Formats: sequence, C-alpha cells, structure tokens
Amino acid sequence: MTKVDVKTETAALLDKLGVARAAWQGGDMASFSPVSGEEIGKLKTVSAAETNKAIDAAHEAFKAWRLVPAPKRGELVRLLGEELRASKADLGRLVSIEAGKITSEGLGEVQEMIDICDFAVGLSRQLYGLTIATERPGHRMMETWHPLGVVGIISAFNFPVAVWSWNAALALVAGNSIVWKPSEKTPLTALASQAIFERALARFGDAPANLSQVLIGDRAIGEALVDNHKVALVSATGSTRMGKEVGPRLAKRFARSILELGGNNAGIVCPSADLDMALRAIAFGAMGTAGQRCTTLRRLFVHDSVYDQLVPRLKKAYTSVSVGNPLETSALVGPLVDKQAFDGMQKAIAAAKAEGGSVTGGERVTEAGKDTAYYVKPAIVEMPKQAGPVLEETFAPILYVMKYSDFEAVLEDHNAVSAGLSSSIFTLNVQEAERFLSADGSDCGIANVNIGTSGAEIGGAFGGEKETGGGRESGSDAWKAYMRRATNTVNYSKALPLAQGVSFDIE
Ligand code: NAD
Repeated sequence: MTKVDVKTETAALLDKLGVARAAWQGGDMASFSPVSGEEIGKLKTVSAAETNKAIDAAHEAFKAWRLVPAPKRGELVRLLGEELRASKADLGRLVSIEAGKITSEGLGEVQEMIDICDFAVGLSRQLYGLTIATERPGHRMMETWHPLGVVGIISAFNFPVAVWSWNAALALVAGNSIVWKPSEKTPLTALASQAIFERALARFGDAPANLSQVLIGDRAIGEALVDNHKVALVSATGSTRMGKEVGPRLAKRFARSILELGGNNAGIVCPSADLDMALRAIAFGAMGTAGQRCTTLRRLFVHDSVYDQLVPRLKKAYTSVSVGNPLETSALVGPLVDKQAFDGMQKAIAAAKAEGGSVTGGERVTEAGKDTAYYVKPAIVEMPKQAGPVLEETFAPILYVMKYSDFEAVLEDHNAVSAGLSSSIFTLNVQEAERFLSADGSDCGIANVNIGTSGAEIGGAFGGEKETGGGRESGSDAWKAYMRRATNTVNYSKALPLAQGVSFDIE
C-alpha cells in the first residue's frame, strides 16, 4: 500500500507553488494521479467562447510585447528560469505525482525547463538575419526577423511542463504572446507552471497583461485554439492521430504549425558494439519513463553474431528491474498513465504473440487491494520479423527485438515505419556509424551513435520526420519558426535599376 498520501501532498505542493485553490477544487474536470489512481484535483474548464476571449486578450498582449526590445524580453525569461530554480523540487515532485514519473525524471523535466530558459536568454541577443549581396548598385538587401503573433501550445501528458517551456521560452523572446492548452491528464502541473511564470512577471514589472495564459479543457478547447484566426502558430505535441486532425485544420486557414507527434524509434546493435554500453542505453531508452516517452526505444535490431551475448542479458534486466511507486521507492519504472494505456499494451502484446513473438514481462504488478493504478513489468518481445504491432507506436514499455545479418537490409527495416523521430546505432565501426548518419542512413530527425534514442539535450533542434510531423523545437535555429522573416531591400542610390535588367521607363 502507498504510504504517501498523494492527495494531501498534491494540495500542499499546489499551495506552496502558489496555485489558488479555487482553480483546482470544485470544478468540472478531474485530474488523477497514475501513482495511486486517485483523484487529486477538480479543475474548472473554459468554454470555447472563453477560449476565443482569451485569444483576443493574448492578441492585445502581443501588440505591446512585440515592441519591447528582444534583450529586455529575455530578462523576463531569465526571471522565469530563476523562479523555476527556486521551485524545482516542488514542481518536479508534482510532475511525478501527476504524470507518474520517477523522482529523478520529474526533477529532470524541470531542469530541462531551466536549461531552455538559459538558452532563450542568450538567444534574445542573437535574433539575427543575413545581409545578402544584391545585383543592383547602391542597394542593400537584408533579412529582418519580427515577432509572429499569438502562439498556441497544445501539449501531451508525458512531458506535462517541459514542452510548454520549450515553446514558451522561445516564443516569448521572439516577441509573441502564448496560450497553452495542456493535456487533460496533467492540468495541475500546468497551473503550477503558470503560477511560477506569474512570479517572474511580477518581478519583471511592466509586461502587458495576458502575455501567457492557460486554458484548461479537453480537445474541444484545442480545436478552438486551432481554428482561431488570431493564433498565428500552433505548436502541437501529442499522438499522430491528433496531428492528423490538427495539421489539415491549420493548413486550411494557412496558419503555421509545429507538429511534434508519435515515434516508433529503433536501435541497431552491430557486431563491433560495446555491449555493456549498449545494454545500459537500451535499458534506459526502452524501460525509462515506463516506455512513455516519444523517444522511447521500441524496436531493436541485433546482429546475429552478438544476439546470444546481448539478448539474454537484456531479458535478465527486464525481469529484475524494479517496478513501483515512484514517490516512495527507488523503483526505476513507475506506473502507466491510466487503464487505457494498460489495455493498449496488453492488446499489442497479444497481437505480437499472434505474429510469433516470444514475450518476457508485460504482466500487471498490483499492490494488495489496489487496482486503481496500472503498474506493469516492462515487456521484451523477440519477434521473427518486423510485422503487426511492431510497425506502430504503442505508448507503453514494449521492446520488440529482431535479429539481422545484413547491414543494408537492416537499414531498410529501420526506416520501414511511418514515424521518423529518433534512432541510434551501436557500433565501433566508423563506416557503419557514418553510413547511419548519412543521406541514405536513418531517416529520422534524431540519429545517434553509441547513445540511446531518448534523453535529448535542449541545445539541438528536437523533432522528427514523416508521421512525427516535421516540426522542430528547442535549440539550434528552431526559434525561426516563432518569428516572421521580412526581406528588405534599401536603395541608397539616385537611380532605380530594376532586377534582372528589366526596363520600364515612363515619361
Ligand atoms: P494525445 O494526442 O492524446 O493528446 C495530446 C494533446 O492534444 C492533448 O492536450 C489533447 O487534449 C490534444 N488534442 C487531442 N486531439 C485534439 C484535436 N483534435 N484538436 C486539438 N487538440 C487535440 O497524446 P497523449 O496521449 O497526451 O501523448 C502521447 C503521445 O504524444 C504519443 O504519441 C507520443 O509519442 C507523443 N509525444 C510526442 C512528442 C514529440 O515531441 N514528438 C513529445 C511528447 C509526446
């Protein structure tokens, strides 16, 4: 039985983080903790009309914020980073309670928020454009990057707060206002993040009202955000199913989108691989966060010369890994988010068996008398070939393992799924490593050598290809998606030469 009283601790954390009780008590939408399955909050949801009103207010905020110099906008994000540092332990704990992450991952998620704030502060002095050679004498051509407008953020349950911060930190230094529709499974952490942001705002002083808002509700509120013409960009993180609905709706009104959708990530273990290293990377990639990361390792191709050395050790790690309450044990694997996730996992395992798969793990781990939480032993499934459920993302800890003998064929199998998020190869052979990273290697947005598929740093651009949606967030030049580019040509001569030698002389 759980010793931690999840409900009492949630209330204490929300009080400490400065979230008004009226915001999460007595409302119409329940939030549950996957740790115990208990209801931990009842939030008041907004209507579609209230959503549109909030977007109008966000648009007014944008009109003022875009005129604030970018380095000053960066100061607000610097203060947000400071407030996050001060609240790291409490917000990390709340993430563990509401999303079911083990303690170090809950804290790691908040660290990621702090890291992106640091990145965005530097970026606020680096929003630069090019100066480009022009063919016309006495002219100058350049690019200017301007704020874009209201940025809508739709986020998934499994990174309940980090995804907001990746978008918020960049959008704010870029001069935009933000409106966030968090997952209906993790709304309390969103309220807490907003309370932290408001403390940064109070210290900043003169930011426009409604610069950042949170809209609590289900997908209907996400749809209202998507359809509102005043939202210039929607950054939507979630399942490919969601992206298939959101993408065309945004395209219909020519709005911009950043789509961060599902993954079906694979690893390849080559004959020369350091197997100890591969084992650790595979274990974290496949079992970490109970298989509920978009970058979770789901498919593993092992060369037949090392299969019998690696796979029995992996199976041992699967049977011995500690599964349990992330709040009071040193368990490495916490709960699945809900019953739906558990049912999806069991369905995939049954389908894998029907395709000839041999399964280790996958069974439910229940504490006596407690059936409201869904803890499972991670499953490792040896498959004769890549077929059936292996081709799809099941958002649960299932690792499908397949033997390979030919490098060209395994590259083909690697890319033969509809998602294209993350990938890795374990090899000490430079030809294999470079080939994997080359134009005809991995077709994913993230391709790694000798590290796993999950656990990206914020400095690189994050996102994937194909049905992962093509969006990029976080580091590198991802900021450009949050701004509009103007090409400017200035004539400082006394003539008016036309480009391409066109003449158009009027009297
Ligand atoms: P989900 O698609 O069920 O929900 C995500 C969000 O989209 C929620 O806020 C939901 O309310 C909203 N939503 C759903 N349908 C909508 C619609 N028609 N219009 C507008 N909004 C809508 O996803 P989930 O179960 O919360 O998260 C798991 C999924 O997210 C997995 O597929 C995972 O791979 C993916 N994910 C991807 C990334 C990435 O960066 N690529 C990161 C995290 C999670």
